[in-house]
Amino acid sequence: MEGLLNRRVLVLNQNYQPLTITKIKRAVNLILDQKVEILEQYNESIHSVDFVLHLPSVVRLNRYINYHPKMIPLTRKNLLRRDGYTCQYCNIKNVPMTLDHIIPKQRGGKDTWENLVAACTTCNHNKNNRTPKECNMPLKKKPKKPSMLTYFQQSVRKKQNSWKQYLFMDQLKN
Ligand SMILES: [Zn+2]
Repeated sequence: MEGLLNRRVLVLNQNYQPLTITKIKRAVNLILDQKVEILEQYNESIHSVDFVLHLPSVVRLNRYINYHPKMIPLTRKNLLRRDGYTCQYCNIKNVPMTLDHIIPKQRGGKDTWENLVAACTTCNHNKNNRTPKECNMPLKKKPKKPSMLTYFQQSVRKKQNSWKQYLFMDQLKN
């Protein structure tokens, strides 16, 4: 039950623009307050004595709000997600990942989207306190701050298949 209530819900503006991702609990409050309509539901539902609630998956605000999606938080998880959990120096996957400061912290490197990349422990260790140039370890790609849409798209897991049509991820069917 607690797991279900932590399930994520995609919130769209009235014009279908993706706004944010929230949890079931918050989405249910929006539904009860009649602030949103339900566009998609999960297969699961919550039963209580006097009601059955199909868990919402995508909801849409009834009124357009002038809101610019907030910045993507710079967190370990979001950085690793941006880099596809792949070492940006040697391309290895499926090993424990660390975060590497491209310009080392001790040398003035900042905690930013542009200066942090996923790195395997071996590369991180080999690179040590040097810049990629100094140790001849070029990056696979230039790290950038992900767009909100990319962020939403990367949040889609199997259970969120129904989100894809709202995030421009649907393959055109021939
Ligand atoms: Zn590596």
